Amino acid sequence: MSVLPSIAGASRPVEGLGGIEKTPLERYVAPSKPSLVGMPRAELAQALAGVGVPASQSKMRVQQLWHWIYVRGVQSFDQMTSVSRALRATLAHHFTLARPEVGAEQVSVDGTRKWLIRLPGETEARPHEVECVYIPDTERGTLCVSSQVGCTLNCSFCHTGTQRLVRNLTPGEIVGQVIVARDRLGDWPERTPAQSAEIPAPSSAATSGEKAEGSRLITNIVMMGMGEPLYNFDSVRDAILVMADNEGIGISKRKITLSTSGVVPNIKRAGEEIGVMLAVSLHAVRDDLRNELVPLNRKYPIKDLLEACRDYPGVSNAKRITFEYVMLKGVNDSIADAKALVRLLKGIPAKINLIPFNPWPGAPYECSDWEQIEKFSEVIFNAGYASPVRTPRGRDILAACGQLKSASERLSARERLALRAMAMTE
Ligand code: SAH
Ligand code: SF4
Repeated sequence: MSVLPSIAGASRPVEGLGGIEKTPLERYVAPSKPSLVGMPRAELAQALAGVGVPASQSKMRVQQLWHWIYVRGVQSFDQMTSVSRALRATLAHHFTLARPEVGAEQVSVDGTRKWLIRLPGETEARPHEVECVYIPDTERGTLCVSSQVGCTLNCSFCHTGTQRLVRNLTPGEIVGQVIVARDRLGDWPERTPAQSAEIPAPSSAATSGEKAEGSRLITNIVMMGMGEPLYNFDSVRDAILVMADNEGIGISKRKITLSTSGVVPNIKRAGEEIGVMLAVSLHAVRDDLRNELVPLNRKYPIKDLLEACRDYPGVSNAKRITFEYVMLKGVNDSIADAKALVRLLKGIPAKINLIPFNPWPGAPYECSDWEQIEKFSEVIFNAGYASPVRTPRGRDILAACGQLKSASERLSARERLALRAMAMTE
């Protein structure tokens, strides 16, 4: 049964969700007035035509709005001083510049920030929730963005997969996460960064607390939050094209990574229609084990997945595919597994990213011992791959990979105690 909000008009099925996806216009017929934030250019032009902007002005007006929304980050039409007063009034009458609402913000001891983002639900009393995580580092600031509320895929090691409620996010809700993060970080020109916001250096300089002209706190985006992006293909594509538009948010496609658990038929489309960096959640080298860890493997087994990777449009040594491999103690972390991994990836321009398993209350796995991760990594390194181990970030606020879950579905008192105990024993 569909758990999407009911909407009038034409609908089409979404693979993997068994539900319905809104058509481009319906996506914005939200509660009252639609927000222009996150609308792809073509839809923005359509929206302007709908309120009487003449076709001859369309391109110029879209350009102006694009600049005010994505470069300047304005929150009211009144601030759009290059737009005539009359048009500003018309726009304000029909549209908003609303962003998704931030329900809560948590800051980890390591500077990672997690925002709980509230989205319209079926009833006002029960909003839908997703999480968005900002991970500052010395040379980059990465924003981890969600593509769905929950996930249909139930990988056995992932907290998100245990969530019952699932719906696709609209492009506005996906781009909205970047806008909200920039709002909260003060990451717009002429605004001061949020207190204690760590400033990536050196490209964006500024250790004094002031941002250098043109510098940005968010330099990279990973579609690695809640959900399977390739099961919400159209919205994720439209949102990424907005994020990468160099007259707006302008984060280059080489700095945007889309992670998939292996939705094989959409991998080629992702290369052709989105063209971002691809990450694949492999996690096992044998089908029997991968069937257990990533049940989608029963539909798209390892052989088919790797074939799609070999054929990924644009793949090259300069544009490698990242294979993610979560380290589960005694499950997939033997030296034989490491050797098999190297054999399996032969001929694919690849990077291998080892992810220490991030625990969550009730999880049926443990993270591999550090020594074992090092041994595993050595086999990969000796085979000629860089084998970075992803440092877990924001574990104390459940912001690390695979720990995300809507707060409304989360943590009974018993689970909270278990989490505290887990943190104390680490
Ligand atoms: N659905 C997509 C993207 C979101 S998950 C996917 O599965 O690729 C982002 C990454 O976090 C994936 O590689 C996923 O396998 C990994 N992950 C999930 N749960 C995890 C956990 N508990 N510890 C470490 N990594 C986890
Ligand atoms: Fe979904 Fe990815 Fe979690 Fe699997 S790992 S349940 S695909 S979010």
